[in-house]
Amino acid sequence: MSFLSATLSRVKPSPTVAVTTLANELKAAGKDVIGLGAGEPDFDTPEHIRDAGKRAIDDGKTRYTAPDGIAELKQAICAKFKRDNDLDYTPSQVSVGTGGKQILYNALMATLNPGDEVIIPAPYWVSYPDMALLAGGEPVFVEASLEHDFKITPDQLEAAITPKTKWFIFNSPSNPTGAGYTRDELKALTDVLLRHDHVWVMTDDMYEHLTYDGFAFCTPAQVEPALYDRTLTCNGVSKAYCMTGWRIGFAAGPENLIAAMRKIQSQSTSNPCTISQWAAVEALNGPHDFIADNNAVFKRRRDLVVRAMNAIDGITCPIPDGAFYVYPSIAGLIGKTSQGGASIDTDEDFAKALLEEMGVAVVFGAAFGLSPNFRISYATSDDALEKACTRIQEFCEGLT
Ligand code: GLU
Repeated sequence: MSFLSATLSRVKPSPTVAVTTLANELKAAGKDVIGLGAGEPDFDTPEHIRDAGKRAIDDGKTRYTAPDGIAELKQAICAKFKRDNDLDYTPSQVSVGTGGKQILYNALMATLNPGDEVIIPAPYWVSYPDMALLAGGEPVFVEASLEHDFKITPDQLEAAITPKTKWFIFNSPSNPTGAGYTRDELKALTDVLLRHDHVWVMTDDMYEHLTYDGFAFCTPAQVEPALYDRTLTCNGVSKAYCMTGWRIGFAAGPENLIAAMRKIQSQSTSNPCTISQWAAVEALNGPHDFIADNNAVFKRRRDLVVRAMNAIDGITCPIPDGAFYVYPSIAGLIGKTSQGGASIDTDEDFAKALLEEMGVAVVFGAAFGLSPNFRISYATSDDALEKACTRIQEFCEGLT
């Protein structure tokens, strides 16, 4: 019998973290590798936020806090939800965790019983299914194909709901596709949920502020106020505020759910880093104009990568509405052989050969539940992106 738990055998390590770690190890070993795996901005945390972190240290704000966050940060989060999403929450409806990851994990741990189902549109962020499995639940996938702009339809959602459904996880703009639901598209989904009052909605709004071409972000509780009492609206400072390493995510929702999440956190990690919490107060309450400047850079990089990918025979790359990912299809390349002799039968073969033969690290589509595709994170310098695109082009041209 294994020493390890049976639950652990239900899950796999995070593939995004694995690719990023491997690329960094190869670089540290002196290999010429361009990492397009990590989903994190290459910009530094803005100075006023860094200063707030330093001030917190100098002011002795270095001790434990309430397990799910300081009052000042909860207030700032309530103000954020009002300002950006026209949603009214009180601090007792807010939970702060160690990144968006801990927030989602706490919520699933707090609510799932064995056999409970969690509806997850695919492609999905790699951690949703495994978190549901760790919490004893069963992921139920709904395929959002490239032909439907990587978005699910109301009929698909309706068909996936069973008496065992507990959660519907909704992520827009999406990691890994960057696809965003318009208000009308989201309303069509919330109309379905109105007919099934046992189903709760967990949103992942992490890319709210990273949108392009005038795309208007909206979130379920805002579009359908009747869902407010069964929605957990999740967000964080990692991406828009360039604070991935500070590890601050948050959620707002019904008080009893927030209290249940607090119970889990009080028995696991306790409070998220105190210094990071004070920096997050400044992020949310301070100036936001740098976000538009960053987005102009991200949009330029998005266009560069989309153009380069679509110029390759066998690759189709839609234009995303937000986030900093593209998710090209390599359907036209499957069955070919690389210059190095690798058979490209799956998107995992493609990503492996691309890293080994050309030194470009991307994440294969199967990790996100829709193949044959791969994810490029374009949150890296223009130079690195141009070089990486040229290498991907050469790799694909060399396939026979
Ligand atoms: N969300 C980022 C990504 O998808 C960070 C890595 C992770 O935690 O999965 O790359």
